Amino acid sequence: MGVVMKAAGLEKAYGGIPVLNHFDLSMRAGEIYGLLGVNGAGKTTFMKILLGLQRPDRGQILLFGREVLREREGLALVGSMIEMPAFYEHLCGEEILSMHLSYLNAYGGRHSAEMGVRTRAGQEEIREALRLTGLEGAGRKPVSQYSLGMRQRLGLARAIVHRPKLLILDEPMNGLDPVGIRKMRELLKGLSGEGVSILLSSHILEEVRYMADRIGVLSGGQICREFSVAEVAGEFGKAFEDCVIDLMERRS
Ligand code: ADP
Repeated sequence: MGVVMKAAGLEKAYGGIPVLNHFDLSMRAGEIYGLLGVNGAGKTTFMKILLGLQRPDRGQILLFGREVLREREGLALVGSMIEMPAFYEHLCGEEILSMHLSYLNAYGGRHSAEMGVRTRAGQEEIREALRLTGLEGAGRKPVSQYSLGMRQRLGLARAIVHRPKLLILDEPMNGLDPVGIRKMRELLKGLSGEGVSILLSSHILEEVRYMADRIGVLSGGQICREFSVAEVAGEFGKAFEDCVIDLMERRS
């Protein structure tokens, strides 16, 4: 299986305090990778670096074989939802998605074409993204009338509307009720079945253990342990949970 993203030797400190330290992570095509760590472990920091929103102090990231810190072309193939998604409140869901596609066309059109991505402001893509995220009935409503869960789903719709090959989702279950969590899980599984690679973060083991193909535990600024799907699927039972919590709380 091809490697879609490879981060090697990342270092990042804020005010002299290290957050990422000898951080390495690679993802294979079509896999769902669960990045697990306590609050403040550095999950969002890594995702922001991956998206070019923060610069690491040291290290390298290859996205689809291109060095993302120097060339941003690879980002045309990426969709993301980082922290709480922010929107123009007076616009409706359809307008938010349309504006996002126009932005991608204007800003990344040339790169997108080079990378074979369709970013035309197509009504079909917008309808499909709203349908997949269960917002088909709410596309015409202003975002100011959306609940927390609907905002989270609109954030996801915005992340997938241009049909990216890699999805980066920071705590995507935040604000969702149990039905929403199940639907999100099914949607992400479906996308991964179509070959989309998904990196998602969480501080809750239960949120990732039934979804991820691999789980990486981020502690002490690095991935201190990775678990395969077989281990995640319950082989370890309660001992698995204890083991993961122990790793998450470890400081090296
Ligand atoms: P997580 O997503 O795992 O909860 P973060 O990456 O958000 O963790 O944060 C990791 C650490 O870096 C935290 O201690 C946080 O306070 C700090 N941090 C994150 N962003 C900044 C910033 N822009 N300036 C200073 N400190 C930051």
